[in-house]
Amino acid sequence: MTSTRSISATALGRGLRKRCPHCGEGQLFSAWKQFERYAMCGLVYTRNPGDTWAFTVVGDRLPIGAIIILIYFGILRSHPVLGTIMMAVAVAVLVWTAPNRWGVGIALHYLSRVYWPDPADPLAPAP
Ligand SMILES: [Zn+2]
Repeated sequence: MTSTRSISATALGRGLRKRCPHCGEGQLFSAWKQFERYAMCGLVYTRNPGDTWAFTVVGDRLPIGAIIILIYFGILRSHPVLGTIMMAVAVAVLVWTAPNRWGVGIALHYLSRVYWPDPADPLAPAP
């Protein structure tokens, strides 16, 4: 029997690797475009537009804002060259890892559906 903790860790790890949080097989994205669902296991990643919005804001937008504010006020104003380099590196890393962070957002949304099931949203049985 799998514990709640291992289900969460597994789903989040799958999201981080841009895989379906339910089965770990399906791709979440094609380049920058998110797939609607994974046909093989039947999981619809985002049932309604905006379902993952809260998770995206907390997991994505807030950290980005914090990093940019920290670099700007912490370094850029006193060390312009170093600050500019760090800002460029931070933006590159944030863009590069965006699908992974969105994948975690999809996984968090998936977990919320696992823990608070909606009768209108039957999740496919675990593989
Ligand atoms: Zn799947």
